[in-house]
Amino acid sequence: MFETAIQKFISTNNFSEFTPKAIFFDMDGVLFDSMKYHARAWTNAMRDIGIHFSEYECYMNEGRTGHSTIDLAFNREYGRDATEDEKQEIYRIKSRYFESYGQSSVMPYARELLQKVKNQGLQIFLVTGSGQVSLLDGLQVHFPSIFKKERMVTAFDVTQCKPHPEPYLQTLKKSGFIRSEVAVVENAPLGVESAKAAGLFVIAVNTGPLDEKVLWDSGADIVLDSMEVLFQKWENFHQQL
Ligand code: CA
Repeated sequence: MFETAIQKFISTNNFSEFTPKAIFFDMDGVLFDSMKYHARAWTNAMRDIGIHFSEYECYMNEGRTGHSTIDLAFNREYGRDATEDEKQEIYRIKSRYFESYGQSSVMPYARELLQKVKNQGLQIFLVTGSGQVSLLDGLQVHFPSIFKKERMVTAFDVTQCKPHPEPYLQTLKKSGFIRSEVAVVENAPLGVESAKAAGLFVIAVNTGPLDEKVLWDSGADIVLDSMEVLFQKWENFHQQL
């Protein structure tokens, strides 16, 4: 399964080989089982200001920064971007809802997979559109000595969010590796689009309610059902390299 995807990636890109030295991990829906809380928080915050924004829409737009999500809703509702004040206020409401749901749990098998990747000597980078401080702080608590600040690109580092390639291009630059030396783990359609637009190999894990077709259509090189499946198949992937 990986072999076919890797061969296709190599030939499409005219690479002589594919030898990952770093794995770029998305955060929400990959490392934390947090998307259900984000979706509920967005739906409630938007409802408070009179905008209908469904949880399904949240999953389809997962990966955008908060400000971009707010602009999307405003453009549909009012035909304009939100003002800075409006964005700050709505994001504050969304964050308050999010924090009120309690701690997001670690995605099953995320910790085990990260440890395995680390033991194999591969470098680990984080690429997230999130600016949710509790989750970013939580990385050090839940995944001790895995993530280093200089190996993270968050909402605070980019001007363009996913699905734009900037987050992944910036991480690539930060890593010092070339495209054939990197693999991405993503769960959301816009995240996959972003990484593919940056020219990277993408393993999608379908941890949410979307049909897996959405992830294939976004350009994922491989789609798996869960982080557990990725953990179980990791050796299979690693042996192909
Ligand atoms: Ca995600």
